[in-house]
Amino acid sequence: MTTNPAIPTLTLNSGFTIPQLGFGVFKVDPEETERIVSDALEVGYRHIDTAAIYGNEEGVGRAIAASGIPREQLFITTKLWNDNQGTESAHRALDESLGKLGLDYVDLYLIHWPTPARDRYLESWLALEQLAAAGKTRSIGVSNFLVEHLTRVIEGSSTVPAVNQIELHPAYQQREVTGFGREHGILTEAWGPLGQGKYPLFEEDAVASAAAAHGKSPAQVVIRWHLQIGNIVFPKSNSRERIAENFDVFDFELSDAEVAAITALERDGRVSAHPLEVN
Ligand code: NAD
Repeated sequence: MTTNPAIPTLTLNSGFTIPQLGFGVFKVDPEETERIVSDALEVGYRHIDTAAIYGNEEGVGRAIAASGIPREQLFITTKLWNDNQGTESAHRALDESLGKLGLDYVDLYLIHWPTPARDRYLESWLALEQLAAAGKTRSIGVSNFLVEHLTRVIEGSSTVPAVNQIELHPAYQQREVTGFGREHGILTEAWGPLGQGKYPLFEEDAVASAAAAHGKSPAQVVIRWHLQIGNIVFPKSNSRERIAENFDVFDFELSDAEVAAITALERDGRVSAHPLEVN
């Protein structure tokens, strides 16, 4: 098994550490999840990002069990789905996720979307605080929250979210919400870090020329950009080759000018759902 002791970690506001690079399993077929997550663990990933709605927590759990990797060396995130917002349903939902994952605790539990029309995210957040106090999750955070939602949970509870997991890639950098996060000690997790393959990011000159200069692939350059600007990132792929490629990003460094050129690709280019529209 190849492991990479050099995976950088960041410290969450809960005091726990998180590997900055992980593996995401959105749209990974439940039937294939065990094999694909096993590949990722063999390559050296120790951080897996799943969600109840992905329907593949059982496969993640089987891969974890089969790996024999000590639990404390893994960082596992799952998420509370919209239908389960609320106090009792959040408690029940995490118990169900833990059962499927075969774990006593997760490292990070997130509210998946604010779902403002339901208006239950503050109640759910207070439930997540209870779940952390009960030891069922080490850290708690949110996903797809805008500044208004973050402000409300910070003012209405005694815990600042450890992370906000949001769509973020060079064309869509969400500077308002990431700036708010920096001010409040909330780390940014970038979902869709490669733009979900929905625009020709890899053909942008800023990406392609850095790839040529370093002898790396465009995907590796974009992952490196995320890491160097401080994002937590967990690109997804079903192919073992690409899973390994996306992990092989610790033997080069982008220059400040290369980082700036990729940062200049911002064009409000959201590729997926807007948080106010998901309910
Ligand atoms: P991504 O940007 O990681 O794109 C994945 C796609 O990029 C793959 O399907 C593949 O086609 C392509 N790709 C991957 N590696 C490549 C490589 N080396 N070369 C060329 N192409 C490559 O998008 P994602 O999967 O949506 O995001 C990553 C993770 O973020 C998800 O798996 C999930 O864990 C999380 N996520 C969270 C939310 C949320 O609402 N919280 C939403 C979407 C995704």
